[in-house]
Amino acid sequence: MQQNEMKLEFDSHSCNESFARVTVAAFMTQLNPTLEEVADVKTAVSEAVTNAIIHAYKNESVVKSRFVKSEDTAEEAGRIWITCHIRDNLLEVEVRDTGCGIADVKRAMEPFFSTAEENDHSGLGFAFMEAFMDTLEVESAPGEGTCVRMTRRIGGGRHSESICGKTDAFDMLQPEQDGMPPKSQYDGNDAGNILLSDGR
Ligand code: ATP
Ligand code: MG
Repeated sequence: MQQNEMKLEFDSHSCNESFARVTVAAFMTQLNPTLEEVADVKTAVSEAVTNAIIHAYKNESVVKSRFVKSEDTAEEAGRIWITCHIRDNLLEVEVRDTGCGIADVKRAMEPFFSTAEENDHSGLGFAFMEAFMDTLEVESAPGEGTCVRMTRRIGGGRHSESICGKTDAFDMLQPEQDGMPPKSQYDGNDAGNILLSDGR
């Protein structure tokens, strides 16, 4: 049985969203995924990390009471942790924060539900995670933070064409393809950005 694990810990700055999804994408290349599989996982990771950045630490007092002060930037930020496991051809991704938490997880996961005040949030983040991954579990408690666990079986038949021998997997990590996050707070064009993120 092939097993592998990696852990990431980073500040909840929006610039780290692309770092996070590209890192997970790089880690999963050992499974010889298809381009579609990589794109799907990147989208799901992007949604989970964006939620942690935008929602978990939106309240400044939560950040101040819980988190580190970066010596370099002198900015205060929440922390986000990602753990990835590979077990045979199963990829497990956990995205965790210790931010404000979610009072009603079931409601939050309903499509089009959003507490965001800005109009550029359509409430589809969890719906995308569910659609692009095989399983999705969300554990959360107010004041405690949120843990999103997702799995995706790679090479399980959803897609047939392997990138092996066709494309260097690391081509997918080039800045011109990953400079723009799939969706986000940046320009509010959710669906368009998802399509743009991997050149699809
Ligand atoms: P979109 O993802 O389409 O931009 P959204 O982020 O509001 O909009 P979802 O990602 O589906 O939609 O999340 C639904 C709601 O769940 C959010 O509006 C927010 O209230 C809550 N939520 C999600 N993730 C977190 C988190 N990590 N911490 C606190 N609240 C969260
Ligand atoms: Mg969201």
